[in-house]
Amino acid sequence: MRHKKFAIIPLLIAVGFMLFQYFGADKVTNPETGKSVRVALSSQQEETLGLQSYREILSQSQTIESGPEHDSVVRVAERLARATGSAARDFKWQVSLIRSPQANAFCLPGGKIAVYTGILPHTQTEAGLAAVMGHEMAHAVARHGSQRLLRTTLAQTLMAGAQFSLSDMEPGQRQAVMAAIGAGAQYGVLLPFSREHEVEADQMGLLYMARAGYDPRAAIAFWERMSTAGGQQPPEFASTHPSHATRIEQLRAFMPKAMAEFENAR
Ligand SMILES: [Zn+2]
Repeated sequence: MRHKKFAIIPLLIAVGFMLFQYFGADKVTNPETGKSVRVALSSQQEETLGLQSYREILSQSQTIESGPEHDSVVRVAERLARATGSAARDFKWQVSLIRSPQANAFCLPGGKIAVYTGILPHTQTEAGLAAVMGHEMAHAVARHGSQRLLRTTLAQTLMAGAQFSLSDMEPGQRQAVMAAIGAGAQYGVLLPFSREHEVEADQMGLLYMARAGYDPRAAIAFWERMSTAGGQQPPEFASTHPSHATRIEQLRAFMPKAMAEFENAR
């Protein structure tokens, strides 16, 4: 008897389930871009998860509670938070300065911000700080994490369907096909999606800083300092972060819009 190698039914069921997952997901509109997107989690779920991870991270970190650096970080966060507008009206913003040599900052879903002291030599001014924090806050406001989670869930459903559809295939061959589908999802769908989010966060961050009264050109100066600060960058196509050169170019292209906002705010 000839062995059937591929059964279409499981794959069709998976695709049906993907459509159900996609259209069942909450739809939100980004007021800065006008773009509507689907997200995996409700605002309430994001708030809960964000707060939980934030507490966990802070419990393992040394936070700085006073002094000029602390005050700067708090001031910038307050001014930027006001500039984020209606999309973040449910956010309970919090900000912490963490003592760490890492040049890093993040904002968790629901508006839980952390800045590491290691980034302060690079940001230099409050406008530089606003460039970094505005970018991170934009990721949270645009709910990029929740968007990515939905895509990952959809990809996993597809993979499960494919696994069943190929279950009669010889194991080595099946593994090869699954690996190809996995790589296709990673490089064809998930990574470009992350890069799209980086550009969006850069642009929204510029608008926030401009609205908050910080010169948006400070973002370009910051990335120029970062590019001369050295450190190995992964090749761009395999990375979620664009190269510094690409990023600076895109910031420049968006600058007229940000400058108009900055003039408006003054
Ligand atoms: Zn980012």
